[in-house]
Amino acid sequence: MARMDRADGHRYFEGLAVAHVLGGLDDSEGRVFRAHLLECADCRARVGELRAIAHDLADVERDEHRVRAAQVIETKRRESDDAEDDLEEAPTPTRASRFTVLGGLLFLVGLSLWNFTLHGEMTQLEADNRNLVNAGVLRETGTEWRSAISDGDVQGVVKEDGEDFVVAVDGLDPAQRYGLYVKDDSGTIAHRFYFGPSEEGRLYRLFPLPENADRLLISDPEDTGDTPAEPDSEPSGDTVFEARRP
Ligand SMILES: [Zn+2]
Repeated sequence: MARMDRADGHRYFEGLAVAHVLGGLDDSEGRVFRAHLLECADCRARVGELRAIAHDLADVERDEHRVRAAQVIETKRRESDDAEDDLEEAPTPTRASRFTVLGGLLFLVGLSLWNFTLHGEMTQLEADNRNLVNAGVLRETGTEWRSAISDGDVQGVVKEDGEDFVVAVDGLDPAQRYGLYVKDDSGTIAHRFYFGPSEEGRLYRLFPLPENADRLLISDPEDTGDTPAEPDSEPSGDTVFEARRP
């Protein structure tokens, strides 16, 4: 237990170490952290590492500036031959510093790409998560449609709140593709969704409710030689689930 307490208490100082190196601590935090440094070898080592990293990054930046300055001077020199003698000798960037700059830039590009990828994945996860949460709420509180089950194995429920509807269906074949269709009161298909069920044979999903929605069908498309058969723009094959709006 005591160890856990120490680990938790120490995490606070680990957080301060970065701010300390970057000069971001206010007076009182700075005092507390410096007092801690005197008695903690771990934090002294960490601050040392962070300083070394900060130092390397500053070097990269300085090299980059030097290369740019050299390029500017080089360009100016080409532009005006007359002024050639007046110019100071430009510091020639060494091959090594060019590689440092290139390495630093590649590192930054890599970091931002990685960030971008992470951000995209997070956005997708958040969207999926929101869909599930909303589906859960609607499933609890929504108005239930009257279901007519055509296939013995398939059981499901459809609920709506006037804006969205949620479909929760079990007992589907995980190896099959299905078409979900919502027809309006004139019989026109107002919404279609092609899907493969989860490994458990389930579909659980929230959709916007089409205007004048009247009934929902899930059909197991007619076998056309493709495996699995792809659903069509109209229901085909067997209707495995059907629900009518009350
Ligand atoms: Zn410490």
